[in-house]
Amino acid sequence: MNNIVITGFSGTGKSIVGRAVARLLGWEFIDTDQEVVRQTGKSIDRIFEEDGEEGFRALERTAVQEACTGDRRVVSTGGGAIVDPDNFQLMSTTGFLVSLEATPATIYARLQAEQKATFEAVVRPMLQSASPLERIRMLKDQREAAYAHAQWTVHTDRLSVEEVAQEVLRAWRRFAGRGPADQPDPFDGDANLAAMVETSIGSCPLLVGWDLIPRLGEILLKAGIPGPVYLVSDDQVSSRYGRTAQRSLQEAGIEAHTFTFPSGEASKSLSMATALYSWLADRRARRGHTLIALGGGVTGDLTGFVAATYNRGMGFVQVPTSLAAMVDASIGGKTAVNLPQAKNLVGAFYQPSLVVADVGSLQTLPHREQMEGWAEAIKHGLILDADLFHIFETQAEGLLALEREITTDVIRRSMAIKARVVSEDERETTGYRNLLNYGHTIGHGLEAATEYGRLLHGEAVSIGMMGAAAIGRWMDVTPAETVERQEAVLRRFDLPLACPDVDLNAVEAAMTLDKKAEGDSLRWVLLEEVGRSTVRGDVPHDVVRQALLRLREDSH
Ligand code: NAD
Repeated sequence: MNNIVITGFSGTGKSIVGRAVARLLGWEFIDTDQEVVRQTGKSIDRIFEEDGEEGFRALERTAVQEACTGDRRVVSTGGGAIVDPDNFQLMSTTGFLVSLEATPATIYARLQAEQKATFEAVVRPMLQSASPLERIRMLKDQREAAYAHAQWTVHTDRLSVEEVAQEVLRAWRRFAGRGPADQPDPFDGDANLAAMVETSIGSCPLLVGWDLIPRLGEILLKAGIPGPVYLVSDDQVSSRYGRTAQRSLQEAGIEAHTFTFPSGEASKSLSMATALYSWLADRRARRGHTLIALGGGVTGDLTGFVAATYNRGMGFVQVPTSLAAMVDASIGGKTAVNLPQAKNLVGAFYQPSLVVADVGSLQTLPHREQMEGWAEAIKHGLILDADLFHIFETQAEGLLALEREITTDVIRRSMAIKARVVSEDERETTGYRNLLNYGHTIGHGLEAATEYGRLLHGEAVSIGMMGAAAIGRWMDVTPAETVERQEAVLRRFDLPLACPDVDLNAVEAAMTLDKKAEGDSLRWVLLEEVGRSTVRGDVPHDVVRQALLRLREDSH
């Protein structure tokens, strides 16, 4: 039973709850109805009209079979799927089967609200009858016996989506033996829990919310971290958030020491690591104590590297304050310092036990750093989550203004995608983590060719994504419409699309060096459509060269 399968009548929230559960676990989400629509290119109503219910059920059976054969998936099924005995057999043997319940009145109200919200001209068949409530009641009665076979039922009437998702998770943990019911995960039910990263050393909760730094002490106590702690920050972040963090630790009774270093990439060095080692030794830091990285990616990488190596491993918590650190650097356990020869050359995989992202702290992050952070979040939507990308298309204004609700939501979703990829391929052994490299092959080449002085990492990735999109076009993998949508969003977020006077030979040399270091041929992550990506190792050199030439010539 490696999946969670959700059944229940229309309007009980199967898709939205399924997506939330998948995000919390870092698993893949599959909606079998959406799969049918995607594979046929037709809406469900149209399939019913043209092929009848029988035609739809045949397609649904195939979608259920495909969805249930995977691993670590949350599968949301259509309301009638479970009635088919073959579907039921598969759903109940491959996953923990949960039924979502709601009263006919709640279902009616939800379907009406959904109809209004989507502005659809076509009225859902269930709402078309003279007495929709009666119709819902009757259909529901017919299916009740099938839903009753689920291993767990959640009554959703008075619960929020998050509450239902937490309830599903609690039940799954109990059934799958992931911790006894009387010892729940400390962040079960916490409204700020965005996802869990599941790694070889255990689970790492990702907490995302507004004003979390002032609550840091309380959060650490909840996570079972009583201190002493060593708070590491650069001077920029320390002057803004250091005192708030310290006050919160003090109020929680946690012994805290602070180490501050000059901001900037130059501090991600062995000499700064050595300074931190000596400082820890002077304070008699021990293995059970915890290092807290409060800051951007430089702080996270440096502190994580020291946490991995000092005393052969100390406790480690990430409190990212830059957007790049939130959606990327703080998740995944890659820690490193730079050598004069290359960036990130000395490092270790070392997972934090907790990540606390205070979205409110982004208000003081300079504009350019904000935009480069969005590049990575946009990338997450492009490679794996079409809905997330759609938010960038439709809600750019709110995100650019850092409006609280939408910004928090998008960061949660973006962090959850990285969590999912890392949970599936913690140490880059299965290849799945490669997908995160979309835009990075050319991006790294551009950063190196411009000697890390001209482009921020996210800016180089933005240009790299345009290069990968051009390659995707030439390889007949990426549709023109996908390239246009990508370009429009990157432009909206003030990100560069080209690098006019870069030395192309230097870019290619750096890309080839990367390839040699990996002992492999260049592998390109290309988009098949928004939200779906693939890795290709057969891109001819002249196609790459053409793409690079375009990036230099374009006057974006
Ligand atoms: P950074 O830590 O240097 O932060 C950028 C600047 O923003 C710094 O001057 C910092 O002081 C400032 N800053 C951060 N938060 C702020 C806030 N809330 N308000 C005001 N100023 C703030 O760099 P970064 O852009 O966060 O991250 C880049 C680094 O991360 C690079 O070293 C890169 O190699 C690394 N990285 C690591 C991973 C990973 O998986 N470990 C992934 C991506 C990037």
